[in-house]
Amino acid sequence: MLPFQASIRCAVTDVAVRQPDVDVTNLAKFAGLKQMTAETLSLSMAEPDIAVLTFDTPNKSANVLSNSVLDELASHLDALEQRSDVAGLIFRSAKSGIFIAGADLREFVQSLGAPEEQVVAMCRRGQTLFGRLSNAPFISVAAINGNCVGGGAELASWCDRRVFSNNAKAEFGFPEVKLGLFPGWGGTVRAPRIAGLSNAVEMVTGGESISADAAYKMGWASDVVGDDDLLSAAIQMVRAEQASEEYLVDRERWSGPIEITETELGFLGATASAVIRQQTKGHYPAPDAALETMLESAMLDSEAGCQLEANRMAKLFGSSVNAALLNVFFLTDRNKKDTGVDGESIAPRSIRSVTVIGAGIMGSGIASANVKRQLTVALTDAARESLAKGGRSVLEEAAFDRRLKGPNPQRMLDLAPLLNLTTSDEEVAASDLVIEAIIENEEIKRSIYSRLEPQLRKDAILASNTSTIPITKLAAGLKHPERFCGIHFFNPVRRMKLVEVIRGEQTSDETIATAVAYAKGIGKMPIVMNDGPGFLVNRLLFPYMHEAIELLCDGAEIKAIERASKSFGMPMGPIELYDLVGIDTAVYAGQTMFEAFPDRVVSSALLPAMVAAKRLGKKTGRGFYSYGNRKGRAEPDPTLNEVIEPHLREKRSVTPDELTTRLFLPMFLEATRVLEDGIVRDPRDIDLGLIFGLGFPPFKGGLMFWADTLGASAIVEMLKPFESLGNRMAPTTLLLEMATSGTKFYKQK
Ligand code: NAD
Repeated sequence: MLPFQASIRCAVTDVAVRQPDVDVTNLAKFAGLKQMTAETLSLSMAEPDIAVLTFDTPNKSANVLSNSVLDELASHLDALEQRSDVAGLIFRSAKSGIFIAGADLREFVQSLGAPEEQVVAMCRRGQTLFGRLSNAPFISVAAINGNCVGGGAELASWCDRRVFSNNAKAEFGFPEVKLGLFPGWGGTVRAPRIAGLSNAVEMVTGGESISADAAYKMGWASDVVGDDDLLSAAIQMVRAEQASEEYLVDRERWSGPIEITETELGFLGATASAVIRQQTKGHYPAPDAALETMLESAMLDSEAGCQLEANRMAKLFGSSVNAALLNVFFLTDRNKKDTGVDGESIAPRSIRSVTVIGAGIMGSGIASANVKRQLTVALTDAARESLAKGGRSVLEEAAFDRRLKGPNPQRMLDLAPLLNLTTSDEEVAASDLVIEAIIENEEIKRSIYSRLEPQLRKDAILASNTSTIPITKLAAGLKHPERFCGIHFFNPVRRMKLVEVIRGEQTSDETIATAVAYAKGIGKMPIVMNDGPGFLVNRLLFPYMHEAIELLCDGAEIKAIERASKSFGMPMGPIELYDLVGIDTAVYAGQTMFEAFPDRVVSSALLPAMVAAKRLGKKTGRGFYSYGNRKGRAEPDPTLNEVIEPHLREKRSVTPDELTTRLFLPMFLEATRVLEDGIVRDPRDIDLGLIFGLGFPPFKGGLMFWADTLGASAIVEMLKPFESLGNRMAPTTLLLEMATSGTKFYKQK
């Protein structure tokens, strides 16, 4: 179960076709294009001969390069190029911590279906415009005060020099591959010439940003200074270049081919290609395309390289992967703005202190996420040893330092005062928010609530991290069920951004809005849902997991099931996932799903047999796989057949198509029932939840986005051969209606 970033790096198949199968109009409307009319750029003079162009996109927290901003830039350059009194031009931003956040993706979405010539023209326009700086009659310097990525990094890389601020937000990079693209305004040409081919390949194909210090080491930054000194450092840079005229030498050098031998080029290409292959598994075409483009253009002059970049970019732009990844971008963007409640805005209460009850795996993870964000936390547990152990792990995790590959002792000391390990009910009840994360037992959970509720503050919120018990059931007996909800974190809390915020029947809007704002405040991505068995993510996970067991009993080989799942794009096969979750846990949770949905959940006897054979999964060294090797990796276990054999219905070969259909359509059908039951407010929440909660392949855009690419009628046809399997493979009312009306899940709201 990997977050977006990780799953992008290790996911599945596909195609780079021109026209996306999705309804681009809907995606465009979802993206919410608004015409920007007010001006972004303003011209001033820092000194009589040094002009400053300041970016300040009106009514936005970030500067973006829209078509109208490019027009503005073109007219400023027209005027400045005519002037004989300008020795230098400095680009700067009026936004705090942001130089330029990239191109306007909302405009990109509008052009997704554009013909190739139009995409080439879009690229050529940016290249030619920015390229004017490399021939301008003045020295250009980008004064980078913070985030400078995508099109912003391209504009900066066409400047003669770049000066960075040393603030923590000063990041520089080309994240286009994360949207299924690569830089198309000259980035693939300028980056290798300025920072060296090897650095450029790593930055452009990996899509990760670098710090100001790293930019200095690579040759991007000529100077790194404090925020307040940025403008004066840029002015000094102009003066120094006026005197040395080194910029003219660089202009000449950067306009030609790169100095590299064929052998060096071949070695770099082979190494980078192997790394990319390992990370993308062939599912994301952009990094490979970027690599090829950069290798090929290394031998060309800058102008020919730009033409090549534009031509290659036109092949990626509008592909199904590009459309899917743009959708994921807009899903996360939408989530950032979602308050969790519809209608008029309800002010969330401020949460400054949190209590976590239960210091086990989840409780300590949750406490740590809070401490990391400077909230005071009271942590309690019924068992003293668990409390001590949990407390240690809270601080170790919160103070984790990547460079030390362990906790930073000073940071641990600094954070320690925020954590109170306590067994006093008075202290436990004193927080703004109390999150219960004890063992999954309804009776014990409810007894804790009835003991603590009378002691809670009047406005405090009580929440449970339960994975299976309905929130409304847990709320029964509470005096204030309106201040109770589910806040369901995922394991491991430090890595999983998704949080399900579950509304019980009586939960108030204010409680939901507060839980959502709180989760965002500690860096999570909350989605709000109504109560129901398995909530959202587990409800959709189980049909997929159960079907894997049914396929096994139908004679499919484990290897084939795992391959089908990974070829689809899942980071891990369902059988290995059983071992990771723990087969006993899966039996328990599966029973809850069976009781809730007996018409379609198959309760296989194989899983209890695995438990009886003490094959509980990775935690016991043996499940469907064995983990006896030194690295604890999943290895096929020849003795497994003894457990499976009695449960085999038949021994037939199952085709890859059947495997894929049977694994993913039950998950999809359950998602349509989730919509029918009104569990989520929008199909997009399903997509966000599955991508960030289960590692559903981002390059498919999400489960419902993927279903839209197939179309409801085609899915109904795909289900027909499986009628004999009953309800779990039967089209739902919603699906049939959509097939008849030809509607899509991503219809405009
Ligand atoms: P865990 O067994 O690791 O920890 C539970 C802790 O609760 C233990 O330290 C135990 O001593 C303590 N405890 C038991 N009874 C208590 C009581 N009456 N008062 C105070 N403390 C008590 O369990 P976990 O995996 O952390 O799960 C906790 C909750 O989170 C469960 O509701 C579970 O369903 C849910 N959850 C678990 C996962 C997961 O992957 N483990 C994921 C999401 C949600």
